[in-house]
Amino acid sequence: MCRVCRVAQKSESLRMQYRYLDLRSSQMQKNLRLRSQLVMKMREYLCNVHGFVDVETPTLFKRTPGGAKEFVVPSREPGLFYSLPQSPQQFKQLLMVAGVDRYFQVARCYRDEGSKPDRQPEFTQVDIEMSFVDQAGILSLVEGLLQYSWPAEKGSLKVPFQSMTYDEAMRDYGVDKPDTRFGMKLTDISDVFSSTQIEFLRSALSQSEGSVQAIRVPSGAKLFTGKDLEDLKQAAKSQFGQELSLVLVREDGTLKSPLKKLMPVSVTEDLLRKTAAGPGDLLLLAAGSLHAVRPMLGSLRLKAAQLLEAHGLSVRDPDAFNFLWVVDFPLFLPKEDKPEELESAHHPFTAPQPEDRELLFTEPHKVRGQHYDLVLNGSEIGGGSIRIHKALEQLHVLKNILKEDPALLSHLLEALDSGAPPHGGIALGLDRLVSILVRASSIRDVIAFPKSFRGHDLMSHAPDSVSEEELKPYHISVKWPTDGGREGK
Ligand code: ASP
Repeated sequence: MCRVCRVAQKSESLRMQYRYLDLRSSQMQKNLRLRSQLVMKMREYLCNVHGFVDVETPTLFKRTPGGAKEFVVPSREPGLFYSLPQSPQQFKQLLMVAGVDRYFQVARCYRDEGSKPDRQPEFTQVDIEMSFVDQAGILSLVEGLLQYSWPAEKGSLKVPFQSMTYDEAMRDYGVDKPDTRFGMKLTDISDVFSSTQIEFLRSALSQSEGSVQAIRVPSGAKLFTGKDLEDLKQAAKSQFGQELSLVLVREDGTLKSPLKKLMPVSVTEDLLRKTAAGPGDLLLLAAGSLHAVRPMLGSLRLKAAQLLEAHGLSVRDPDAFNFLWVVDFPLFLPKEDKPEELESAHHPFTAPQPEDRELLFTEPHKVRGQHYDLVLNGSEIGGGSIRIHKALEQLHVLKNILKEDPALLSHLLEALDSGAPPHGGIALGLDRLVSILVRASSIRDVIAFPKSFRGHDLMSHAPDSVSEEELKPYHISVKWPTDGGREGK
């Protein structure tokens, strides 16, 4: 077999090693060409139709508070380092202060957060910022942009996109980026068990924000094997540290479940009515604090859909593009490791909803932000916000709420102080958007020269070693791990 053919039937790492051959495949050619067309149309729409200015911003920047982990770059001055920007956020706001009232950039961004199928250390955003705009203005601009640039062969896009609040998304889907191509929503069944004698349900309901929630998996009892059911329970335990209870509705309408003996007839009837479960259906039941139960069921909802599809049922239309705006996010969330402290749900520059502004000084955890996410088929493909444009308000958020050192952002605070127009923007994740468009399983299939899962370039072997001699000008030396190994080489 010739080398090209061999590479055509390749493992992911072989494909990356001989990327220039892999790119010859018709699929990769198609993906890159579609991406190029899409970007060209986006530029056309932004520049020619709406008068945006394409401005390049630096990729050697400095460490900024909050947000993702950044890559550091040594400089020749002892102890001084650049950072690669996680996004051009500050620059695009500074451009608004500078009077460039419609900015965009196809921007490379860097986040040192490890790779996932839909994430890698460097990625591309279509980054947008506008002055004198409100949330509705940004949403309709993006809808127009996507409609204009959408490849003809993928059908036309209907606008406006569906929209739901963060609270609705969490309540109905358990996640803030719901895949709305299918139902199987979460149902609150706490009242069914309000006077239950079942110990674990009673104790769950007695805790703060305690709740019992269920998902009906249509035909789950009929189709799922014992292993499927075990996998669901295992996923609940290993990924979320929680117990999942299963209730199978047999074809004759009777239940198969460890809970069956513990439920009086009236409770069983209530449960079936409330969840609309019928013969052949499966109920996934979880009890505990809402903060724990919802994300777990949100994740199991997707797993159950995959399992149904593996059994031949069509659950998610592979040709559908379900765009969804998620709005009204909380401005701050409790930190995962220190829940008594707050962190930004989006980033520290997001403005509060005008009617919640006063709460910034009294109950910041209750403030909703002017933040919006764009979701496509259950993946977040964009996010943005209306920004704080008053220096004092920005200072209060940084210093008093987020407990960050405002000195790190003195340039931005000074800029806001010099007279900033109200402004807002958004960034669309280009790699993710294109990968969903071409139905690729990974964003690596729409990036010409991607990094591996571990952030390596398998073709050129980056990152690579640098000699002590070459490191001298940077005043740094390598401290080798005690096992002497260099991981991943
Ligand atoms: N800079 C933000 C991000 O990368 C997007 C924005 O707020 O415009 O998520």
